[in-house]
Amino acid sequence: MYDVLRASYRFHCPCQPAGERTYVPLSAFRRLERLPGAAHPAVYQVEYGCRCGDSHSGLVAHSDLDYGPLGQVETEFRNLLTGRSERVGGEMAELARMQVQRGNWPWCLYCAEEARLMPVYPSCLLLVLPHEDAADMIGVAMRCPGCGHTSVNLVSQPHLDVPFYHDPVVRYLERRYGDERDLTIEQFHDQLHSSSFDVERSRFPGA
Ligand SMILES: [Zn+2]
Ligand SMILES: [Zn+2]
Repeated sequence: MYDVLRASYRFHCPCQPAGERTYVPLSAFRRLERLPGAAHPAVYQVEYGCRCGDSHSGLVAHSDLDYGPLGQVETEFRNLLTGRSERVGGEMAELARMQVQRGNWPWCLYCAEEARLMPVYPSCLLLVLPHEDAADMIGVAMRCPGCGHTSVNLVSQPHLDVPFYHDPVVRYLERRYGDERDLTIEQFHDQLHSSSFDVERSRFPGA
């Protein structure tokens, strides 16, 4: 489900032949919703902007969504020096484990309610939209895993897509939304483009 070399989730694009996959990084997610009912595992519905130009939606299990980027996967890399394919899944999982031990969490976003950067999981995302005027900047509405309140951040694409990479400063709206029902996608779009953002310096060691 998650491709560590592409840092993307694999989904099916209906415009492509059956069996063909499309690769979707977190910054191409648009809306994430936990489906009621399913609990073991929980299932999320993801609306995403596909490379074909359309939006589609797909389902992803909680474990794939949050732990796929950190788990051990069987992936091979063609070593051009030796001409052999080498397995690197274990090595990459080890690198991820060392980063977490150093206190560097793969993703962090700012919680306006608690006034601090929080370690978050992909399942904390609610809405994601590229900023129309700031190249490569992505607006994110997230539900804080600590307090449950919703905050709006403006981050670079790698901040979201590359686990363990963090922007030196994270921009956020000094505004509290309560829970996610207080923020529609239209409001999110308007506030992303009409508000001025505050900044918080990222304090994770990898930043
Ligand atoms: Zn598509
Ligand atoms: Zn919080």
